[in-house]
Amino acid sequence: MIIPCPLCGTRDQREFTVRGHAVGLDRPEGEVWSDDWHSFIHLRENPAGRTAELWYHGGGCGAWLVVDRDTVTHEVYGARLASEGRA
Ligand SMILES: [Zn+2]
Repeated sequence: MIIPCPLCGTRDQREFTVRGHAVGLDRPEGEVWSDDWHSFIHLRENPAGRTAELWYHGGGCGAWLVVDRDTVTHEVYGARLASEGRA
């Protein structure tokens, strides 16, 4: 699978580490334990189909990316820097 890193160009997936569904961008506000924190930490989806995932480019620029891909077909539709937030 080829990942289009916005900083490095197209790279083989072996340069990256996937961290699952991009819910990490929806971090709850505050530091007090709540149902929102419980959901954020413990309840993760494992969707089949097109989804946004967090990938770390450890073998390249070290950036966190949000990769738009299909988890069934492994087709990659695009990627952007996670530092840009939710699109
Ligand atoms: Zn990169």
